Amino acid sequence: MHFFVRDLSGHSLPFDVSDVNSLQYAIADRTAIPIEEQRLVYGSSQLVPGRSLAEYGVVEGSTVGLALRLKGGAPKKRCGFMLNPTDRCSQAAVRIVGDCQLCSSSFCARHRLAEDHSCPKLSTCREQAYERNKARLEGEATVSEKLARV
Ligand SMILES: [Zn+2]
Ligand SMILES: [Zn+2]
Repeated sequence: MHFFVRDLSGHSLPFDVSDVNSLQYAIADRTAIPIEEQRLVYGSSQLVPGRSLAEYGVVEGSTVGLALRLKGGAPKKRCGFMLNPTDRCSQAAVRIVGDCQLCSSSFCARHRLAEDHSCPKLSTCREQAYERNKARLEGEATVSEKLARV
């Protein structure tokens, strides 16, 4: 079922899920708003996890409202970089460009690059690239071996 979620700034995002839980995960995924801060409203009801959207009367093409649970509007996101195991960077995270594509955390201008915040996903990416490269080289090796034998 296709429907829309409209956030506080009036942006509508299309979604295609059938229950409240999946919707919350999808929203968290796409807007970086944590599930516990999302307040979803349709008509006069607040959507509760564990129920299906159909129970609230959400139909194809409906628009569900998304508000934040916190009082005082949207919180300023802080840089997610840990200076040491107990202290987080005190800078505000920069919007959009501060979001790391790999670990999906937000960072200030100084820590936004994967290298700068020692991104936990970075080594995984490198390993994957290495494996891919290795597989390719092995593939090529096999080809040249075959050619050599001919
Ligand atoms: Zn920082
Ligand atoms: Zn990262």
